[in-house]
Amino acid sequence: MYTNEMKIEFDSKSENEGFARTTVAVFLTQLDPTLEELADIKTVVSEAVTNSIIHGYENKEGKVVVEVRIEDRDITIKITDYGVGIEDISKAREPLYTSKPELERSGMGFAFMEAFMDELDVQSSVGAGTVVTMKKHMEQRK
Ligand code: ATP
Ligand code: MG
Repeated sequence: MYTNEMKIEFDSKSENEGFARTTVAVFLTQLDPTLEELADIKTVVSEAVTNSIIHGYENKEGKVVVEVRIEDRDITIKITDYGVGIEDISKAREPLYTSKPELERSGMGFAFMEAFMDELDVQSSVGAGTVVTMKKHMEQRK
């Protein structure tokens, strides 16, 4: 099986959200993805990284780690933070649920990750942080 991995770590700052999204997209160009696949992946990376910055670290200092692993045409994207963690993961994953309605969040981040990827796994513990793992099969281009 062909495998290829990358890992980046950066400060929890909203300026770095675009860096993360674009870096993942550039790494995945080796799979010759469709524009639609790339757009979906950029969206989910952006949602997960934004969650780490806004919710995990509540805009305070911290590090966000983004890892991508390719196994043939299956990709796994893992976003880790060491922030506040999530108390009730199933509630957090419900569409329209947000703990920050005052910031005009719509509560759709996890719903997008669920919709755009084949698999979404959320591991979290309060006070320790959150790991979001997403998997997707990239179709072979004809
Ligand atoms: P939107 O993504 O639409 O702007 P949102 O971020 O509130 O709104 P989701 O991304 O679906 O919605 O996340 C739902 C809730 O899960 C958040 O409001 C927050 O309480 C919690 N959450 C998500 N990611 C993290 C994280 N990395 N650390 C701590 N809490 C998180
Ligand atoms: Mg969100």
